[in-house]
Amino acid sequence: MSSADICQACGACCAHYRVSFYWGESDAHPGGSVPQRLTIPITPYRSAMRGTERTPVRCVALDGEVGQHVGCTIYPQRSSTCREFTAGTPECDKARGAYGLAPLAELVAA
Ligand code: SF4
Ligand code: SF4
Repeated sequence: MSSADICQACGACCAHYRVSFYWGESDAHPGGSVPQRLTIPITPYRSAMRGTERTPVRCVALDGEVGQHVGCTIYPQRSSTCREFTAGTPECDKARGAYGLAPLAELVAA
């Protein structure tokens, strides 16, 4: 099973962490891509994906059920923070653990 397949059956990181990024990444700014209507300002220079700034965390762009089948509805337009989040890291495993999902290394080895 590839990590892409595993992510499509997970989505925990999109429903565990505050997903913030430089506000210029929103489509209200030249070169930006993230739909601004789905973001919320959190500092003068940073925005977050709506739904990740509060508890319980869940990005508004996340479709589906965590741990079952999920998809990012703005995948081609997602922020650098989302693009840089790496499957199999301790941060990944922490998010998975919060949903009772096995660490990725164990899953790939299985
Ligand atoms: S928590 Fe890890 S395995 Fe789950 S979607 Fe995020 S990167 Fe993929
Ligand atoms: S924008 Fe997409 S990849 Fe980023 S946190 Fe939201 S659902 Fe996840």
